Amino acid sequence: VPVIQTMCSPLCRSYTTNTKPLANTLTLIPGGTRGIGLATAKLFARQGSRIVILARDHHRIQHVLQKELDPYVSSFPPASSSSSNSNSNHQSHNQTQDQGHLGFQCDVSNQEAVDQVIKDVTKVGSIDYLITSAGIARDSLLIAHNPQDMENVINTNLMGTMWINKAVAKGMIRRKKGAIINISSVVGIHGNIGQTVYSASKAAIIGFSKSLSKELGSRGVTVNVIAPGYIDTDMTAGVSEERRKDIIARTSLGRFGQPEDVAEAALFLAQSKFITGQVLKVDGGLIL
Ligand code: NDP
Repeated sequence: VPVIQTMCSPLCRSYTTNTKPLANTLTLIPGGTRGIGLATAKLFARQGSRIVILARDHHRIQHVLQKELDPYVSSFPPASSSSSNSNSNHQSHNQTQDQGHLGFQCDVSNQEAVDQVIKDVTKVGSIDYLITSAGIARDSLLIAHNPQDMENVINTNLMGTMWINKAVAKGMIRRKKGAIINISSVVGIHGNIGQTVYSASKAAIIGFSKSLSKELGSRGVTVNVIAPGYIDTDMTAGVSEERRKDIIARTSLGRFGQPEDVAEAALFLAQSKFITGQVLKVDGGLIL
């Protein structure tokens, strides 16, 4: 279906040598183009995993594959394969022997697009690790909350996470292996003024992940959650200086988190064999 091919076109690829701890693994990172997802992509790539990132902005995907995942990049596909045309999916099917990182343009809130992109990814390789970092924040007091923003937050953060998990879980069950790490937030546990809907989406991810961990445990698949505190990314770039100082004053470790702090937790959970259904706060001791 052309529309779906357009939404899920493979954009670019790069090449990596795999002699590392995560050699011969494939890691799928929705939201891998910025912030926490990007730091996770870089860390997992350094460990030797083949990375597949999903996001909406295809220019950004290309930038990440060509610049951010350096020094693993050694060549790029011809311009024709980076455009959203009707041959795009066909080209990704023909790349099964390649070991390069991949990027697909995909809006995770669109179930059809997600199903199609996961089909395309699994033709390239089986997914060993899933880290769902795609998310948005649209903050407002509830009584003033724009209904469209409310829907977008739920559709991206919650429905997007569930569509991706649903599509990826099938392959993991079949292979009887895999690790899923869903990104929630400390505000999904503790709540926050101005974040009712965002908190709802993040709290639901916790219940969803705990239940899924019970469904998949007997198949050897782990499902865990990371609940970050305040992390320096585009998402928190708008936090005022005053509020930032207040948050830092309340954080035991006395600083904002860095995306790499969360990436390290994701790597730990991905490699853990006997941890499932857990929520790991990565917040520098903000909320104890
Ligand atoms: P960023 O805004 O830096 O990055 C968000 C990423 O998600 C981008 O790659 C973006 O790409 C992608 N994305 C957003 N919407 C969609 C969509 N509909 N479909 C596909 N991809 C999408 O955010 P962070 O790195 O800060 O956040 C990552 C996750 O961590 C989020 O779930 C966030 O809620 C959570 N979190 C962040 C905290 C923080 O302090 N930063 C604290 C607690 C939790 P594109 O726009 O191109 O689609």
